Amino acid sequence: MLIKPNDLFYGEKYINLSRKELLEKVQTQMSSQRFKHVLGVETAAVELAQRYGVSTEAASIAALTHDYAKERNHGEMHDLIISANLDLELLQYGSEIWHGPVGAILVKKELGIQDADILNAIHYHTVGRPEMSLLEQIIYVADYIEPGRVFPVVSEARKAAETSLAEAVAFETEHTLLHLIGQKRKIYPKTIDTYNTWVAKP
Ligand code: GDP
Ligand code: FE
Ligand code: FE
Repeated sequence: MLIKPNDLFYGEKYINLSRKELLEKVQTQMSSQRFKHVLGVETAAVELAQRYGVSTEAASIAALTHDYAKERNHGEMHDLIISANLDLELLQYGSEIWHGPVGAILVKKELGIQDADILNAIHYHTVGRPEMSLLEQIIYVADYIEPGRVFPVVSEARKAAETSLAEAVAFETEHTLLHLIGQKRKIYPKTIDTYNTWVAKP
């Protein structure tokens, strides 16, 4: 039987909050539209976690917090990238890629999440990385295929995720890059590293 997010009960392994308390804290950080996206990512992530044998609780927590920093002001994010010793190259590729690394720092500080796998899943959810744990892959993919996403190739991405998580990561990486190139946007070099590992043929 498939477990839905509402059926989940958090122990104290990953966070000292109930799911309801976490939902309330996340909701204060963002618009109702983005909160709806976050709930969609949770639904997709909890489903993928069951399919690929990952903790549903960890998937739920990582999904609910993945965009925690998305609406923080740019000055705060900029300063945190410097003070927390994050990759300074982030600063040259536009603020859209800052909220993952910054979010990982903030949820540790503000929500007390310590689990390295959850923090990495938040950190790398936008650009991925060559070595991604199953949880990291799940959050990366769930963010792309959640029920609220509407774009031409989303059904193909959902289909890939049903049979192979790695294929879904590859599909998303290829199409994100194509999309960015189509708009002549700057490509963060670590996005290329993800492409070279997950998409490019040897
Ligand atoms: P969201 O936070 O739910 O909107 O989704 P993401 O965190 O996955 O993505 C945020 C934005 O970052 C998207 O618009 C991506 O296209 C963009 N993005 C991903 N990789 C790169 C990159 O290498 N360079 C730039 N400039 N943007 C990127
Ligand atoms: Fe994001
Ligand atoms: Fe997201």
